[in-house]
Amino acid sequence: MEVEGPEESIASFISGVHGELPPLAEVSEISCAEVEIINDTAFRIIESEAGGLGRVYITPDIATCGQCFTELFDPGDRRFRYPFINCTNCGPRLTIIQDIPYDRINTSMSCFPMCPLCQGEYENPSDRRFHAEPNACPACGPALSLLDEAGNPLTDKDPLHKVITLLIEGHVVAIKGLGGFHLAVDAANDEALKRLRSRKFREEKPLAIMVKDINAAARISQIGKEEEALLLSPQRPIVLARKRETDAISPAVAPGVSDLGIMLPYTPLHHMLLEKHFHALVMTSANQVDEPICITNREAIKRLRGIADYFLVHNRDILVRCDDSIVTVSSGKKRMLRRSRGFAPKPITLKKLYPEILALGPQMKTTLCILKGTLAFVSPHIGDMETPEARDFHQENLALMQKIAECKPDIIACDLHPAYYTTKLAEELPSSRIIRVQHHHAHIVSAMAENGIEGEVIGVAMDGTGYGLDRTVWGGEFLVADEAAFTRIGHIMNYILPGGEKAIREPWRIAVSLLREAYGNNWPEVAEGLHLIPEKSYYETMDRIMVQKFNSPMTSSLGRLFDGVAALLGIRQKVTFEGQAAMELEAMAKSNTDVLLPFDISETGNVFRLDFTPMIRKIVDEIRTGRSKAEIAHAFHMTLPVVFRGMAESIRKRTGLNRVVLSGGCFQNRILTEGTIAELEKARFVVFFHDVLPTNDGCISLGQAVCAGAQIML
Ligand code: ZN
Ligand code: ZN
Ligand code: FE
Repeated sequence: MEVEGPEESIASFISGVHGELPPLAEVSEISCAEVEIINDTAFRIIESEAGGLGRVYITPDIATCGQCFTELFDPGDRRFRYPFINCTNCGPRLTIIQDIPYDRINTSMSCFPMCPLCQGEYENPSDRRFHAEPNACPACGPALSLLDEAGNPLTDKDPLHKVITLLIEGHVVAIKGLGGFHLAVDAANDEALKRLRSRKFREEKPLAIMVKDINAAARISQIGKEEEALLLSPQRPIVLARKRETDAISPAVAPGVSDLGIMLPYTPLHHMLLEKHFHALVMTSANQVDEPICITNREAIKRLRGIADYFLVHNRDILVRCDDSIVTVSSGKKRMLRRSRGFAPKPITLKKLYPEILALGPQMKTTLCILKGTLAFVSPHIGDMETPEARDFHQENLALMQKIAECKPDIIACDLHPAYYTTKLAEELPSSRIIRVQHHHAHIVSAMAENGIEGEVIGVAMDGTGYGLDRTVWGGEFLVADEAAFTRIGHIMNYILPGGEKAIREPWRIAVSLLREAYGNNWPEVAEGLHLIPEKSYYETMDRIMVQKFNSPMTSSLGRLFDGVAALLGIRQKVTFEGQAAMELEAMAKSNTDVLLPFDISETGNVFRLDFTPMIRKIVDEIRTGRSKAEIAHAFHMTLPVVFRGMAESIRKRTGLNRVVLSGGCFQNRILTEGTIAELEKARFVVFFHDVLPTNDGCISLGQAVCAGAQIML
């Protein structure tokens, strides 16, 4: 900008830039320089010069703004009940881009020439729709249509009205949204939910729901100040909040867990769907298990065959797949669980200048990251790399992020695990150098980078699984780490994961392994008393598996310890999705007692070892004396923070380090995280935790990239 005038006017103009920003604007930096006075008298916007120094980022998609919402339901407005209303303050962005720069011609709106009225708004600097690239109206823009299960169009005049009727009748309707399709059913209809779950092979995993407004949200869950702000934020993520007793929604929405995943409408279409008829709609990502969300009409019809009864589609193409983001609140702060729509691909600003690096992420909950200068471009959530579709989605994201970051780095960072898809991809892609980063080191470095801290810290990485330097499965790690290197100064004692993957699906196997650590050869007696083993013949098999260690790696994982304890308590012997047992153990932990369980810290060869066997024995005793599951689960959750503090104090004594960085999937558990932060702060540690990225493996790519960068710059 060029401005002229007396000094104090200019000063107040500059401070006004911060004070009077439009809703989506953010100032990253202001720098001033004097220019020649040319005695301008009017305000003009002039064409940008190509090749200028400025960078224009792709903004994330943004929920319908208040003004558009008002127009949507105003019978006098020319966009009355038009499901694609948007303006410069709201609407699709990332999900409609084909290329950059972000101009209409490079979006999926390019095939909709604007009518004279829309064009007028688009060209008028004082209009709210000045350069709103997806600007449209009923006369010139996209439109809805309704298809049957085979993809044949139905001829209803008002597809939306028809869909509402179909949902009331209990049908499963696939609805095209912003970053992909949702599968919708009435959240109060048990039968419809049952149908959806059995068709989607998703019997127990919690389903996200959409409610009309904040009051409707507060009726079904406990909405605090922070939750409310997040629900209403322009990013409109799914917010996990404690359930309330209510019959407004079916218990089949989120069985066995303490939270509901709730979001508010974020497109005009959502607002119209929820206007009158439903307490809540289940709105779950439309995909098959482990596959990415569907985006094109044809893809949806093909992949959702047998799942959706009808399809509510439109002719504005979704070009970038983007799932709903998921957040929760702990210790009064926003915690990201899945970073995607509304948040990605906004870059994270780092403290240092880095060379261009591409990090490909881990195997589960994958994101990828491109480092360039001071910016880290972390992709939207990609997911688990278990299916060909998911791997294609990883490739899509790679191309997308290269476009957005405007570079193709030839230094590649990846995980240490030789069998990960992302590791193999790193080996296949053209590169000048591959840097392999240990999983938990990546966790800690990621949280450090987000918080802008450097130098040695105590890293506490509590996690499901990650490939260790000694080829065992790590997951309960205490590191002394900086950005480039680490030593494993302590860990949870190793135990066998009997049957590997099988133990993850059937936590009773882990419980057996924990009992064997605690009772040696007497474990079968104890297991017998707890009714832990499904069949008599398993005793011998389990013993053999554990003695021979056949297909059974050693692990120090806290995530698996949670699973094992849940199984001991009889909460769950088998799981249908990762983390289910741990989530139910958290939901179970309700008590006012402050009883703690015993734990030992020992030291061998300069490595601290957390011995959980006294805890397991105590849990068994408590079960025998009839103590409630709720109390034992609570005691388990209260004990871990105290143990972590004990470990951190031992490490501080030896190293003098006072900063603790927390990361890893286990810290998605709110009781554990709040307890750990409070306990460490009591002991006067300075504690750092994730804020921008998830603490689960969604943060790994950033950690890989920054670690590789630090190694290069050594
Ligand atoms: Zn708007
Ligand atoms: Zn128009
Ligand atoms: Fe992890």
